[in-house]
Amino acid sequence: MNEFTKTLCPYCGVGCGLEVSAPAQHGKATNRDSDGTPTWRVRGDKSHPSSQGMVCVKGATIGESINKNRLHYPMFRESLHQDFRRISWDEAFDIITQRIQTLRLHEETDSICMYGSGQFQTEDYYIAQKLLKGCLGTNNFDANSRLCMSSAVSGYIQSFGADGPPCCYDDLELTDCAFLIGTNTAECHPIVFNRLAKYHKKNRHVKMVVVDPRRTPTAEVADLHLAIRPGTDIDLFNGIAYLLMKWNYIDTAFMDDCTSNFPAYAEVIRHYSPDVVARQCGISIQDLETAAKYWGKAKSVLSMWSMGVNQSSEGTAKVRTIINLHLMTGQIGKPGAGPFSLTGQPNAMGGREAGGLSHLLPGYRLIKNDQHRAEVEDFWGVERGKISPVPGLTAWDMITGLESDHVKLLWIAATNPAVSMPDLERTKKALLKSPFTIYQDAYYPTETAAYAHLLLPAAQWGEKTGIMTNSERRVTLCQSFHQPPREAKVDWEIFAEVGRRLGFADKFAFNNSAEVYAEFVQLTRQRPCDMSGLSHEFLAAQGPTHWPYSQGSSSETKRLYTNLRFHTSDGRAKFGAFYSQGLAEPPDPDYPFVLTTGRLYGHWHTQTRTGRIDKIRQMHPEPFMEIHPRDAAKLNIIDHQLVEVRSRRGLGKFPAKITKAISPGTVFVPMHWGALWADNAEANALTHPQSCPDSLQPELKACAVQLIPI
Ligand code: SF4
Repeated sequence: MNEFTKTLCPYCGVGCGLEVSAPAQHGKATNRDSDGTPTWRVRGDKSHPSSQGMVCVKGATIGESINKNRLHYPMFRESLHQDFRRISWDEAFDIITQRIQTLRLHEETDSICMYGSGQFQTEDYYIAQKLLKGCLGTNNFDANSRLCMSSAVSGYIQSFGADGPPCCYDDLELTDCAFLIGTNTAECHPIVFNRLAKYHKKNRHVKMVVVDPRRTPTAEVADLHLAIRPGTDIDLFNGIAYLLMKWNYIDTAFMDDCTSNFPAYAEVIRHYSPDVVARQCGISIQDLETAAKYWGKAKSVLSMWSMGVNQSSEGTAKVRTIINLHLMTGQIGKPGAGPFSLTGQPNAMGGREAGGLSHLLPGYRLIKNDQHRAEVEDFWGVERGKISPVPGLTAWDMITGLESDHVKLLWIAATNPAVSMPDLERTKKALLKSPFTIYQDAYYPTETAAYAHLLLPAAQWGEKTGIMTNSERRVTLCQSFHQPPREAKVDWEIFAEVGRRLGFADKFAFNNSAEVYAEFVQLTRQRPCDMSGLSHEFLAAQGPTHWPYSQGSSSETKRLYTNLRFHTSDGRAKFGAFYSQGLAEPPDPDYPFVLTTGRLYGHWHTQTRTGRIDKIRQMHPEPFMEIHPRDAAKLNIIDHQLVEVRSRRGLGKFPAKITKAISPGTVFVPMHWGALWADNAEANALTHPQSCPDSLQPELKACAVQLIPI
């Protein structure tokens, strides 16, 4: 019998295949952590096509986090001033159902919210949608994906008529030119970067362009680094479009046959001449022209982006202006080409498929679409009109809903908003006001646990069998390899039990996650993300598979839009015409610096796991603030000196790291440190919640700050 179980790394959206074996099963070479506890042995799965056996430090050390600081029992307290007391699951379910029933009786169902996570497996997401949107009749389910990739979702929908990254990882090794925009891929999506960097090194004709205000490890290996001013991305893309037009690098046949709205776009880009763009972006005209030449001359162009584009008050417009460049040059639907969003969380893609945002329904359907609601209502067997036509509260709406007393029950699962939300002091004050907060998580303590009335212990990752989809639309069955500790339960089973106790027993009569998935994929039939040919059984036998994969398929679809037909009503991809708006909070004389935030190679988000792994703590022992030597000299700041960073909302104190890697006028702080791990080092104490009007994703990447050396 094979001692290793195949699963997927539970950290980032790269979705690397892992093989895991229990401590006792590898005998003489038992792995131990620093205090001598045997740990799970983890290695890359060479048979997983996305990662080919590679893992980064996070995946390699995940075994150490499995048993540390786990939440073992349901715990309850009437008020946040009291201590928790252990209760049974039966009591916990009674408390939840009584609270929900009371709100329903008072016709306050819309005051019930759930804030979920891209850490969920697809089955968890699906059952949560069925419970809230189908049975209770509120669309107030949102996920931390709102903070991560909702701008990519709205950009794809507006340009192509449907969500879904068109590319696959094989394109990394087939492209002639890779544009990496607002993504520190080397640290945040390391295995994608490894594949691209190896190929780039071996093939000198291949160009790599990195657009980032920081000289990151990603930028270090690029042929061209465009260190643009924060908030000038659209200026840059429109400026490249101007030159592509001027030099006739456009694909007129593709535009004529496959796109719409070009005249409106052309009217915009004529305002973005090289001198204007270079001045606005803070780069040279020569570098701008080099970037446009790289794009225009390449046979295939792949653009990749992540939070630097998505976490913006004009995130959707940025995504669409990147897509515009592909449309005007015909760089889509062929090997090595296309726009490719790199997803943050491991199953944010699965969440999108299952309808796990407050404006979505399963199968890439929209709440606002009458036919989509009717299809889902009929499938779920609920009366027509049960699903509200109004999108639910987004992540930030839930915080403002607590402030205004609209939200009366907040259920948070597998995420840590007391570190990750913008405007953190305001967020914490709102959480303190919550009449009733359920917090369902694998770990304890976390920062958010301090704001909970009811704690529910959740099984994590290797303790449940379920599905995850990675950034390249590849669906993997993640097999469980051990039992949940003590009384921890699987997320979807918790939601289903609440549903049964609320009187919806027939809607939640599932015996296992394979049955949940089998029901879910029926809702994807004939939708852009058709997975009706997939099942747990199929994936166990065939291995990870790209969607779309409809029933009866015999081969997978690696790339979307190879037939150059899109999901819009006329089958054409639509150009978006956007002028640059800049930052929602630009620097000014009182707050003269732009703060940008980001991630480090070893840590994952709010450190719920990685903060408990010795090797990673040693790798990144403390938070810091990067500042350019010129700015440091002006303020008499020396290396390692503590600096108070103030925005209009809050402050943090960080040791200075003086480096030319950051542009003058900009400072960088990593987002990983919450109150549990350091005093006064929360990046999001400084950030603001201004959001993109289409995706409603907050601009976590930039705000105005002042610096006071201490
Ligand atoms: Fe895990 Fe992402 Fe690292 Fe792969 S690249 S091992 S998915 S954290």
